[in-house]
Amino acid sequence: MTAWDHALLAAPPTLEADDRLPPAHKLYALRTLPLDEIKAVGFDMDHTLARYRAPEADELAFKKSARLLVRDRGYSPWLLEIEYDPAFAVRGLVLDGLRGNLLKLNRERQVVRACHGSRALSRPELEAVYSRRRLSTAAKGFRNIDTLFELPESHLYARMVDGLDRGLLKAENYLELFRDVRWAVDTAHRNGEMKAEILAHRDFFIARDPQLALALDRLKRGGKKLFLLTNSDWSFTDGVLSHLLNGQDEARPHWTDYFDLMVVSSRKPLFFTDTPEAVAIGGHPNAFSGGHTAWLEARLEAEGEQILYVGDHIYGDVLRSKKNASWRTLLLVPELERELKLLEAKSPDLRELFRLETARRRAQRRASVLQDQWNRNRARRHVLGPRLSTEAMAALDHEATQLALSAGALRQRVELLTLEARGLQSAVEGAFNPMWGPIFRDRDEQTRFADQIQQFACAYTGRVENLYMVDPQATVYAPVPTLPHERREMVRG
Ligand code: IMP
Ligand code: MG
Repeated sequence: MTAWDHALLAAPPTLEADDRLPPAHKLYALRTLPLDEIKAVGFDMDHTLARYRAPEADELAFKKSARLLVRDRGYSPWLLEIEYDPAFAVRGLVLDGLRGNLLKLNRERQVVRACHGSRALSRPELEAVYSRRRLSTAAKGFRNIDTLFELPESHLYARMVDGLDRGLLKAENYLELFRDVRWAVDTAHRNGEMKAEILAHRDFFIARDPQLALALDRLKRGGKKLFLLTNSDWSFTDGVLSHLLNGQDEARPHWTDYFDLMVVSSRKPLFFTDTPEAVAIGGHPNAFSGGHTAWLEARLEAEGEQILYVGDHIYGDVLRSKKNASWRTLLLVPELERELKLLEAKSPDLRELFRLETARRRAQRRASVLQDQWNRNRARRHVLGPRLSTEAMAALDHEATQLALSAGALRQRVELLTLEARGLQSAVEGAFNPMWGPIFRDRDEQTRFADQIQQFACAYTGRVENLYMVDPQATVYAPVPTLPHERREMVRG
């Protein structure tokens, strides 16, 4: 099928009961999720239970990190003049710290878009560097932009690369910039200043939605044990969750009343592989710092697939918990709401793209048939030439001319259709993000980000409050997986 796959436009019939929910409120299952088998539901906090106001919170991280670089690492105050651009990076990209580049990868881990500093690279430029080889992003000098926290870091790094290229900054190489920006962002998260500012203005920075308390309450009344598992420390967690949950429900006046177990400073992804001791937090019988998977499972009296974990980090929350602990996973994709709106708004363009692509392929097929007939005609002339009458020869030549003309016209049509489709395609993709296009696909291909979600998440959704609409004992069904040869049968029913 073509760009954006016809499936996007004409989804096969589905049996899901929640079909009538608006798309932004749905839970999208990739693996069928029998919620009645789930004994415990765990939540990550940052960008899962708590949504930080964008781009203001990101800009805060950007500015604080730039200030640290100028103050403690001797970088030029030019860094302080840079305006934060929230549209510069998107989740799922990869930073190449060796070369000063930001990359978008397809499902095969090939680079499909790239920029050096903040300048987009053309296809030939990026192919000259990365060819069509599979990129191993686990190698030294690469960093996955897996969470919304990493967006400001990508932008700051790109602008520092610009600064180095233009002689405004001094550093040995791009890798040194990469290490310094990592240090600065890490320090900004750890030194408490940024968190203090967010808490001081929590009404501004942290969106409150009454449906969160309802969603948690519904799960609890549905017999699930709830737990919190966050890398944030106790005091920040307490500040954020009291803002979100305290006083929302008379029966649970304090945020801790919603959870059977609270784990802070959990060091995910190491929580799923190491075994540090959990340390009790004074005054809270169910609150701990640190700990590890086996300890948590023993406390909850639930293990493996009986646990559903909800988080926004494809690696730290979803991949590791599924691979190492066999937990079921629900990935939060806060970008989903916007991507869905754009898909809806662009659906006439996508339909047009499908029409253009169908016409292009048809014209190409016909051109190749005519070309083949011309080849046969010329071969006949060559072999039979001496034995043909003058009239027969003239007829053969006339047919060849007609075939050549028609094939030429069709090839021209193919070129025009290709150009038209390409223009429309980049307009559609540019609406998602001018530099990167949509986060789930690129032209006809799925991205590495989309592939990771499909490999490791049992389900995904845009916001945690959507759980309120899900019956805690229901089964959330994944679409039946199909191979291309089976699809016609599926549609015929
Ligand atoms: P979680 O998503 O609730 O597990 O928590 C994420 C925590 O990691 C938050 O407290 C963030 O401030 C923190 N964080 C995000 N990026 C960094 C970093 O680069 N260094 C240190 N902490 C970070
Ligand atoms: Mg998180």
